[in-house]
Amino acid sequence: MQSFNPPDVLLLGPGPSPVPQRVLDALARPTIGHLDPRFVALMDQVKALLQWALATNNAITLPISGPGSAGMEAVFTNLVEPGDTVIVCRNGVFGERMRQNVVRLGGSASIVDDDYGQPVDPDKVEAALKANPGAKALAFVHAETSTGARSDAQTLCALAREHGALSIVDAVTSVGGIRVDTDAWGVDAIYSGSQKCLSAPPGLAPLSLGQRAVAAMQARRQPVSSWFLDLSLVLDYWQDSAGGGRSYHHTAPVNMLYGLHEALLMLRAEGLEAAIARHLDSHRRLRDGLETLGLELRGDERWRLPQLNVVTVPEGVDEAAVRHQLLHGHHIEIGAGLGPLAGKVWRIGLMGHGSRIENVDRVLAALKQVLGR
Ligand SMILES: *Cc1c(COP(=O)(O)O)cnc(C)c1O
Repeated sequence: MQSFNPPDVLLLGPGPSPVPQRVLDALARPTIGHLDPRFVALMDQVKALLQWALATNNAITLPISGPGSAGMEAVFTNLVEPGDTVIVCRNGVFGERMRQNVVRLGGSASIVDDDYGQPVDPDKVEAALKANPGAKALAFVHAETSTGARSDAQTLCALAREHGALSIVDAVTSVGGIRVDTDAWGVDAIYSGSQKCLSAPPGLAPLSLGQRAVAAMQARRQPVSSWFLDLSLVLDYWQDSAGGGRSYHHTAPVNMLYGLHEALLMLRAEGLEAAIARHLDSHRRLRDGLETLGLELRGDERWRLPQLNVVTVPEGVDEAAVRHQLLHGHHIEIGAGLGPLAGKVWRIGLMGHGSRIENVDRVLAALKQVLGR
């Protein structure tokens, strides 16, 4: 065995997305102690940068040590208790995972189903909230990476609030790629991931909880079943809760936090509006180029995600063989379909640092060659 030297692959799938060299350089800096005061100062900056990226003043805003799924699990584990009813919107693979979280926690999930590829229907959500008075929360995925559909987070959060339910928002693929306005939308709990539009490697899950979510945590009848994800314990490390300084909970992934910090600095230098506009430009270029190749994007343009493009595989084309040739012949990774879309679509991610015109042109040229068009 010897050192692993990965090939240089252009990552245009559903994540991870390309990591800029500047972020990779940050990851390679010396590891210091996770309670070193200089590291604690970096943690405070990461929190402030995440508050900026999520457009929130929530004091509880921090990255969970783990992938996006850990962010999901942290939110559900801290907010859902046995016997709670949670309205879960399921219009893709990640909505179904939310349902599984609720059920595993002893909650009861009331499902609002929409077809894969459709956004969550606010009318159905309103009906579900009316049919389930006292529901603890409404949970939905803002940007469904499995289908490329964006749901109207602002409207859904307003409905939740109107009916006294907490809003739980999966923004794993949203943050940095499309508008996420945590406070203005009245989001109660939101989580994301480092490896999609934030351009850091996988392994950290930004999370933010508003006042109502904090109150729900404080009113819990029983302790959080997960020790690792219990935010009341995690917070003793991420903030000086008791006034006696930070205390050890788990060893933070120190270098990963260097990476996320650097990626957030880059995003801030560019500006969120500029980054969002760049995602839209790349998406339009891809859409037009695919059209020239006779390929079609799925989903209505009103709710298509610019950062995740779902392309219908043409009749008679071997879906997996095309991806294989792109990866091995052109060093480009695109994604396959998930769930009911498996075998029927490709998913082309234009996320974060990867969302740029030259990458769009590269994947279009490669597709043209592979498909012989
Ligand atoms: C990628 C993704 C997740 C899961 O994130 P992991 O880092 O793979 O655990 C959850 N929700 C959505 C919408 C995602 O795109």
